[in-house]
Amino acid sequence: MSQFWSPIVRTLTPYVAGEQPAISTLIKLNTNENPYGPSPHALAAMREAVEDGLRLYPDPSGLPLRTVIAETHGLEPDQVFVGNGSDEVLAHTFQALLNHDKPLLFPDISYSFYPTYCRLYGIAYRNVPLDEVMRVNIADYRQDCGAIILPNPNAPTGIALPLGEIETLVRDHPDQVVVIDEAYVDFGAESAVSLIKTCPNLLVVQTFSKSRGLAGLRVGFAMGQRHLIEALERVKDSFNSYPLDRLALAGAVASWQDRDWFERHRDLLMNSRERLAIGLRDLGFQVLPSSANFVFARHPDKSGMELLHALRERSILVRRFAGERIENYLRISIGTDAECDKLLAALAEI
Ligand code: PMP
Repeated sequence: MSQFWSPIVRTLTPYVAGEQPAISTLIKLNTNENPYGPSPHALAAMREAVEDGLRLYPDPSGLPLRTVIAETHGLEPDQVFVGNGSDEVLAHTFQALLNHDKPLLFPDISYSFYPTYCRLYGIAYRNVPLDEVMRVNIADYRQDCGAIILPNPNAPTGIALPLGEIETLVRDHPDQVVVIDEAYVDFGAESAVSLIKTCPNLLVVQTFSKSRGLAGLRVGFAMGQRHLIEALERVKDSFNSYPLDRLALAGAVASWQDRDWFERHRDLLMNSRERLAIGLRDLGFQVLPSSANFVFARHPDKSGMELLHALRERSILVRRFAGERIENYLRISIGTDAECDKLLAALAEI
Protein backbone atom coordinates (compact mmCIF):
# COMPACT_ATOMS: atom_id res chain seq x y z
CA MET A 1 0.00 0.00 0.00
CA SER A 2 1.31 3.37 -0.93
CA GLN A 3 2.17 5.77 1.89
CA PHE A 4 0.17 8.50 0.18
CA TRP A 5 -3.27 7.23 1.17
CA SER A 6 -5.30 7.04 4.36
CA PRO A 7 -4.48 4.18 6.73
CA ILE A 8 -8.16 3.25 6.57
CA VAL A 9 -7.68 2.23 2.95
CA ARG A 10 -5.12 -0.28 4.16
CA THR A 11 -7.78 -2.03 6.25
CA LEU A 12 -10.18 -2.45 3.31
CA THR A 13 -10.15 -5.64 1.33
CA PRO A 14 -10.63 -5.35 -2.42
CA TYR A 15 -13.92 -6.92 -3.48
CA VAL A 16 -13.42 -10.39 -4.90
CA ALA A 17 -16.29 -10.70 -7.32
CA GLY A 18 -16.26 -14.44 -7.70
CA GLU A 19 -15.70 -16.06 -11.03
CA GLN A 20 -17.15 -14.33 -14.11
CA PRO A 21 -17.77 -17.36 -16.27
CA ALA A 22 -18.71 -17.66 -19.89
CA ILE A 23 -22.39 -18.03 -19.05
CA SER A 24 -23.01 -20.74 -21.61
CA THR A 25 -20.53 -23.15 -20.03
CA LEU A 26 -21.16 -22.79 -16.31
CA ILE A 27 -24.21 -22.88 -14.06
CA LYS A 28 -23.82 -19.72 -12.06
CA LEU A 29 -25.57 -19.98 -8.69
CA ASN A 30 -23.09 -17.92 -6.65
CA THR A 31 -24.15 -14.26 -6.73
CA ASN A 32 -27.96 -14.26 -6.51
CA GLU A 33 -28.60 -13.03 -10.02
CA ASN A 34 -31.96 -13.74 -11.61
CA PRO A 35 -31.87 -16.58 -14.19
CA TYR A 36 -34.68 -15.00 -16.22
CA GLY A 37 -33.08 -11.58 -16.73
CA PRO A 38 -35.11 -8.40 -17.14
CA SER A 39 -38.48 -7.68 -18.74
CA PRO A 40 -38.21 -7.50 -22.55
CA HIS A 41 -39.80 -4.05 -22.28
CA ALA A 42 -36.81 -2.90 -20.23
CA LEU A 43 -34.42 -4.12 -22.92
CA ALA A 44 -36.49 -2.43 -25.64
CA ALA A 45 -36.52 0.86 -23.72
CA MET A 46 -32.73 0.76 -23.41
CA ARG A 47 -32.32 0.07 -27.12
CA GLU A 48 -34.52 3.05 -27.82
CA ALA A 49 -32.42 5.22 -25.50
CA VAL A 50 -29.31 4.19 -27.44
CA GLU A 51 -30.99 5.02 -30.73
CA ASP A 52 -31.94 8.45 -29.41
CA GLY A 53 -28.22 8.99 -28.83
CA LEU A 54 -26.55 9.61 -25.49
CA ARG A 55 -25.36 13.13 -26.21
CA LEU A 56 -27.35 14.76 -23.43
CA TYR A 57 -26.90 14.41 -19.68
CA PRO A 58 -29.57 12.34 -17.97
CA ASP A 59 -32.16 13.76 -15.60
CA PRO A 60 -30.03 14.87 -12.65
CA SER A 61 -32.28 13.49 -9.92
CA GLY A 62 -33.59 10.38 -11.66
CA LEU A 63 -37.07 11.92 -11.55
CA PRO A 64 -38.81 9.63 -14.09
CA LEU A 65 -37.89 6.59 -12.00
CA ARG A 66 -38.65 8.22 -8.67
CA THR A 67 -42.06 9.17 -10.00
CA VAL A 68 -43.13 5.65 -11.04
CA ILE A 69 -41.80 4.08 -7.82
CA ALA A 70 -43.54 6.73 -5.70
CA GLU A 71 -46.86 6.23 -7.52
CA THR A 72 -46.85 2.50 -6.80
CA HIS A 73 -46.36 3.04 -3.08
CA GLY A 74 -48.53 6.12 -2.55
CA LEU A 75 -45.46 8.27 -1.91
CA GLU A 76 -44.23 11.52 -3.47
CA PRO A 77 -41.18 11.50 -5.78
CA ASP A 78 -39.21 13.42 -3.14
CA GLN A 79 -39.67 10.45 -0.81
CA VAL A 80 -37.67 8.25 -3.19
CA PHE A 81 -33.92 8.36 -3.78
CA VAL A 82 -32.30 6.47 -6.67
CA GLY A 83 -28.71 5.39 -7.13
CA ASN A 84 -26.26 3.20 -8.94
CA GLY A 85 -27.25 -0.09 -7.34
CA SER A 86 -28.39 -0.35 -3.74
CA ASP A 87 -24.71 -0.59 -2.80
CA GLU A 88 -24.32 3.05 -3.75
CA VAL A 89 -27.58 4.01 -2.04
CA LEU A 90 -26.31 2.29 1.10
CA ALA A 91 -22.93 4.01 0.80
CA HIS A 92 -24.64 7.43 0.68
CA THR A 93 -26.82 6.42 3.62
CA PHE A 94 -23.79 5.46 5.69
CA GLN A 95 -22.09 8.74 4.74
CA ALA A 96 -25.11 10.70 5.97
CA LEU A 97 -25.40 8.93 9.35
CA LEU A 98 -25.27 10.94 12.49
CA ASN A 99 -23.57 9.72 15.66
CA HIS A 100 -20.42 8.21 14.27
CA ASP A 101 -19.26 7.45 17.80
CA LYS A 102 -22.26 5.45 18.85
CA PRO A 103 -22.25 2.09 17.14
CA LEU A 104 -24.31 1.23 14.11
CA LEU A 105 -25.94 -2.13 14.86
CA PHE A 106 -26.37 -4.93 12.35
CA PRO A 107 -26.71 -8.70 12.59
CA ASP A 108 -23.84 -11.12 12.64
CA ILE A 109 -24.14 -12.56 10.06
CA SER A 110 -25.41 -10.19 7.40
CA TYR A 111 -24.29 -8.30 4.31
CA SER A 112 -20.50 -8.02 4.18
CA PHE A 113 -20.48 -4.45 2.86
CA TYR A 114 -21.86 -2.99 6.10
CA PRO A 115 -18.62 -3.31 8.09
CA THR A 116 -16.66 -2.22 5.02
CA TYR A 117 -18.64 1.02 4.71
CA CYS A 118 -18.29 1.59 8.46
CA ARG A 119 -14.53 1.33 8.24
CA LEU A 120 -14.37 3.49 5.15
CA TYR A 121 -16.52 6.27 6.63
CA GLY A 122 -15.19 6.00 10.18
CA ILE A 123 -18.45 4.77 11.72
CA ALA A 124 -18.36 2.71 14.92
CA TYR A 125 -20.35 -0.52 14.62
CA ARG A 126 -21.41 -3.50 16.68
CA ASN A 127 -22.50 -6.93 15.45
CA VAL A 128 -25.59 -8.36 17.10
CA PRO A 129 -25.45 -12.18 17.04
CA LEU A 130 -28.31 -14.16 15.53
CA ASP A 131 -30.21 -16.48 17.85
CA GLU A 132 -29.69 -20.25 17.96
CA VAL A 133 -31.86 -20.83 14.88
CA MET A 134 -30.03 -18.10 12.94
CA ARG A 135 -32.89 -15.62 13.31
CA VAL A 136 -32.64 -11.91 14.10
CA ASN A 137 -34.02 -11.28 17.59
CA ILE A 138 -35.16 -7.66 17.73
CA ALA A 139 -35.05 -7.61 21.55
CA ASP A 140 -31.24 -7.81 21.22
CA TYR A 141 -31.28 -4.42 19.47
CA ARG A 142 -32.62 -2.63 22.57
CA GLN A 143 -29.30 -1.01 23.36
CA ASP A 144 -27.65 2.36 23.03
CA CYS A 145 -26.70 2.84 19.39
CA GLY A 146 -26.25 5.42 16.63
CA ALA A 147 -28.41 3.69 14.02
CA ILE A 148 -29.50 0.21 12.90
CA ILE A 149 -29.30 -1.54 9.55
CA LEU A 150 -31.08 -4.81 9.00
CA PRO A 151 -31.51 -6.78 5.80
CA ASN A 152 -34.99 -8.29 5.54
CA PRO A 153 -34.81 -11.07 4.52
CA ASN A 154 -31.39 -11.37 6.05
CA ALA A 155 -28.49 -12.36 3.82
CA PRO A 156 -27.01 -14.93 3.58
CA THR A 157 -29.51 -16.81 5.77
CA GLY A 158 -32.59 -15.85 3.70
CA ILE A 159 -34.70 -15.73 6.87
CA ALA A 160 -37.28 -12.90 6.98
CA LEU A 161 -38.83 -11.13 9.93
CA PRO A 162 -42.58 -10.42 9.83
CA LEU A 163 -43.59 -6.79 9.36
CA GLY A 164 -44.85 -6.55 12.97
CA GLU A 165 -41.35 -7.22 14.30
CA ILE A 166 -39.78 -4.73 11.91
CA GLU A 167 -42.31 -2.16 13.09
CA THR A 168 -41.44 -2.83 16.74
CA LEU A 169 -37.74 -2.42 15.94
CA VAL A 170 -38.34 0.89 14.16
CA ARG A 171 -40.61 2.23 16.92
CA ASP A 172 -38.21 1.08 19.65
CA HIS A 173 -35.63 3.53 18.27
CA PRO A 174 -37.42 6.83 17.54
CA ASP A 175 -34.16 8.79 17.77
CA GLN A 176 -32.14 6.62 15.43
CA VAL A 177 -32.34 5.96 11.70
CA VAL A 178 -33.38 2.36 11.08
CA VAL A 179 -32.46 1.16 7.59
CA ILE A 180 -34.24 -1.92 6.29
CA ASP A 181 -32.28 -3.36 3.37
CA GLU A 182 -34.91 -5.12 1.27
CA ALA A 183 -32.66 -6.38 -1.54
CA TYR A 184 -34.52 -9.74 -1.49
CA VAL A 185 -37.92 -8.67 -0.16
CA ASP A 186 -39.91 -9.53 -3.30
CA PHE A 187 -39.31 -13.26 -2.93
CA GLY A 188 -41.75 -13.76 -0.09
CA ALA A 189 -41.06 -11.23 2.70
CA GLU A 190 -43.19 -8.24 3.73
CA SER A 191 -41.92 -4.80 2.81
CA ALA A 192 -41.73 -2.08 5.44
CA VAL A 193 -42.74 0.59 2.90
CA SER A 194 -46.21 0.86 4.46
CA LEU A 195 -44.61 2.12 7.70
CA ILE A 196 -42.92 5.10 6.08
CA LYS A 197 -45.87 7.48 6.57
CA THR A 198 -45.86 7.02 10.34
CA CYS A 199 -42.15 6.33 10.99
CA PRO A 200 -39.92 9.37 10.43
CA ASN A 201 -36.80 7.32 11.24
CA LEU A 202 -37.34 4.52 8.70
CA LEU A 203 -35.42 4.19 5.45
CA VAL A 204 -36.27 1.26 3.16
CA VAL A 205 -33.69 0.29 0.51
CA GLN A 206 -34.48 -1.90 -2.52
CA THR A 207 -32.81 -2.93 -5.76
CA PHE A 208 -33.49 -3.83 -9.40
CA SER A 209 -30.70 -6.44 -9.28
CA LYS A 210 -32.63 -9.42 -7.95
CA SER A 211 -36.39 -9.67 -8.54
CA ARG A 212 -36.15 -7.49 -11.65
CA GLY A 213 -33.19 -9.29 -13.17
CA LEU A 214 -31.14 -6.13 -13.79
CA ALA A 215 -27.98 -6.71 -11.75
CA GLY A 216 -25.93 -5.56 -14.75
CA LEU A 217 -27.65 -2.17 -14.91
CA ARG A 218 -26.88 -1.06 -11.31
CA VAL A 219 -30.08 0.52 -10.08
CA GLY A 220 -31.20 0.72 -6.46
CA PHE A 221 -33.39 3.07 -4.47
CA ALA A 222 -34.36 4.19 -0.99
CA MET A 223 -37.75 5.28 0.30
CA GLY A 224 -38.42 7.31 3.41
CA GLN A 225 -39.82 10.58 4.68
CA ARG A 226 -38.62 13.74 2.92
CA HIS A 227 -36.12 14.81 5.54
CA LEU A 228 -34.22 11.51 5.18
CA ILE A 229 -34.28 11.51 1.39
CA GLU A 230 -33.13 15.11 1.30
CA ALA A 231 -30.01 14.19 3.27
CA LEU A 232 -29.18 11.48 0.75
CA GLU A 233 -29.65 13.97 -2.09
CA ARG A 234 -27.13 16.31 -0.47
CA VAL A 235 -24.55 13.55 -0.15
CA LYS A 236 -25.20 12.38 -3.70
CA ASP A 237 -24.99 15.86 -5.20
CA SER A 238 -21.61 16.31 -3.58
CA PHE A 239 -20.42 13.04 -5.05
CA ASN A 240 -21.98 12.63 -8.49
CA SER A 241 -24.90 14.79 -9.45
CA TYR A 242 -26.11 12.28 -12.07
CA PRO A 243 -26.95 9.12 -10.18
CA LEU A 244 -28.35 7.15 -13.13
CA ASP A 245 -27.38 7.33 -16.77
CA ARG A 246 -29.94 7.50 -19.56
CA LEU A 247 -29.89 3.75 -20.21
CA ALA A 248 -30.42 2.89 -16.56
CA LEU A 249 -33.28 5.35 -16.24
CA ALA A 250 -35.05 4.09 -19.35
CA GLY A 251 -34.52 0.40 -18.48
CA ALA A 252 -35.52 0.72 -14.85
CA VAL A 253 -38.70 2.71 -15.57
CA ALA A 254 -39.84 0.14 -18.17
CA SER A 255 -38.94 -2.73 -15.87
CA TRP A 256 -40.91 -1.20 -12.99
CA GLN A 257 -43.95 -0.74 -15.20
CA ASP A 258 -43.98 -4.36 -16.40
CA ARG A 259 -45.73 -5.71 -13.31
CA ASP A 260 -46.99 -8.80 -15.10
CA TRP A 261 -43.49 -9.98 -16.09
CA PHE A 262 -42.23 -9.26 -12.60
CA GLU A 263 -44.95 -11.26 -10.87
CA ARG A 264 -44.76 -14.26 -13.21
CA HIS A 265 -41.00 -14.67 -12.88
CA ARG A 266 -40.99 -14.00 -9.15
CA ASP A 267 -43.56 -16.79 -8.71
CA LEU A 268 -41.56 -19.16 -10.93
CA LEU A 269 -38.48 -18.49 -8.86
CA MET A 270 -40.24 -19.02 -5.56
CA ASN A 271 -41.61 -22.36 -6.80
CA SER A 272 -38.12 -23.41 -7.89
CA ARG A 273 -36.79 -22.44 -4.47
CA GLU A 274 -39.23 -24.75 -2.69
CA ARG A 275 -38.48 -27.54 -5.15
CA LEU A 276 -34.73 -27.10 -4.62
CA ALA A 277 -35.12 -27.03 -0.83
CA ILE A 278 -37.03 -30.33 -0.94
CA GLY A 279 -34.38 -31.86 -3.22
CA LEU A 280 -31.58 -30.73 -0.92
CA ARG A 281 -33.34 -32.07 2.18
CA ASP A 282 -33.83 -35.41 0.41
CA LEU A 283 -30.04 -35.49 0.00
CA GLY A 284 -29.55 -34.96 3.74
CA PHE A 285 -28.92 -31.20 3.72
CA GLN A 286 -30.21 -28.88 6.42
CA VAL A 287 -31.80 -25.92 4.65
CA LEU A 288 -32.78 -22.70 6.40
CA PRO A 289 -36.27 -21.40 5.57
CA SER A 290 -35.65 -18.86 2.80
CA SER A 291 -37.71 -15.86 1.69
CA ALA A 292 -34.98 -14.84 -0.78
CA ASN A 293 -33.73 -15.96 -4.20
CA PHE A 294 -31.18 -18.25 -2.59
CA VAL A 295 -31.03 -20.97 0.02
CA PHE A 296 -28.49 -21.35 2.81
CA ALA A 297 -27.75 -25.00 3.40
CA ARG A 298 -25.26 -27.35 5.02
CA HIS A 299 -24.66 -31.05 5.00
CA PRO A 300 -24.00 -32.52 8.46
CA ASP A 301 -21.34 -34.92 7.17
CA LYS A 302 -19.77 -33.15 4.19
CA SER A 303 -17.40 -30.23 4.22
CA GLY A 304 -18.70 -27.06 2.57
CA MET A 305 -15.29 -26.45 1.02
CA GLU A 306 -15.18 -29.90 -0.55
CA LEU A 307 -18.71 -29.55 -1.89
CA LEU A 308 -17.81 -26.17 -3.37
CA HIS A 309 -14.80 -27.62 -5.19
CA ALA A 310 -16.57 -30.77 -6.32
CA LEU A 311 -19.40 -28.67 -7.76
CA ARG A 312 -16.90 -26.38 -9.47
CA GLU A 313 -15.35 -29.42 -11.15
CA ARG A 314 -18.82 -30.14 -12.49
CA SER A 315 -19.13 -26.56 -13.81
CA ILE A 316 -21.50 -25.38 -11.09
CA LEU A 317 -20.71 -22.28 -9.03
CA VAL A 318 -22.13 -21.75 -5.55
CA ARG A 319 -20.86 -19.60 -2.67
CA ARG A 320 -19.37 -20.78 0.56
CA PHE A 321 -19.18 -18.57 3.64
CA ALA A 322 -16.41 -18.57 6.18
CA GLY A 323 -17.14 -17.74 9.81
CA GLU A 324 -17.76 -19.29 13.15
CA ARG A 325 -21.31 -20.62 12.86
CA ILE A 326 -21.55 -20.69 9.09
CA GLU A 327 -18.35 -22.54 8.31
CA ASN A 328 -19.97 -25.43 6.55
CA TYR A 329 -22.77 -23.55 4.80
CA LEU A 330 -23.28 -23.05 1.10
CA ARG A 331 -25.39 -20.24 -0.31
CA ILE A 332 -27.05 -21.41 -3.48
CA SER A 333 -28.81 -18.91 -5.76
CA ILE A 334 -32.05 -20.14 -7.29
CA GLY A 335 -31.63 -20.86 -10.99
CA THR A 336 -34.13 -22.30 -13.43
CA ASP A 337 -35.60 -25.70 -12.55
CA ALA A 338 -33.25 -27.27 -15.12
CA GLU A 339 -30.22 -25.66 -13.43
CA CYS A 340 -31.41 -26.68 -9.96
CA ASP A 341 -31.90 -30.27 -11.21
CA LYS A 342 -28.33 -30.35 -12.51
CA LEU A 343 -27.12 -29.10 -9.14
CA LEU A 344 -29.09 -31.79 -7.29
CA ALA A 345 -27.81 -34.50 -9.64
CA ALA A 346 -24.24 -33.33 -9.07
CA LEU A 347 -24.69 -33.25 -5.29
CA ALA A 348 -26.16 -36.75 -5.35
CA GLU A 349 -22.93 -37.91 -7.02
CA ILE A 350 -20.51 -36.18 -4.66
N1 PMP B 1 -27.98 -5.59 0.11
C1 PMP B 1 -27.84 -6.91 0.20
C2 PMP B 1 -28.30 -7.59 1.45
C3 PMP B 1 -27.28 -7.65 -0.85
O1 PMP B 1 -27.11 -8.97 -0.75
C4 PMP B 1 -26.88 -6.97 -2.02
C5 PMP B 1 -26.33 -7.72 -3.21
N2 PMP B 1 -25.16 -8.35 -3.07
C6 PMP B 1 -27.01 -5.59 -2.06
C7 PMP B 1 -27.58 -4.93 -0.99
C8 PMP B 1 -26.52 -4.78 -3.21
O2 PMP B 1 -27.21 -5.00 -4.39
P1 PMP B 1 -27.11 -4.04 -5.64
O3 PMP B 1 -25.98 -3.08 -5.40
O4 PMP B 1 -26.89 -4.93 -6.80
O5 PMP B 1 -28.41 -3.30 -5.70
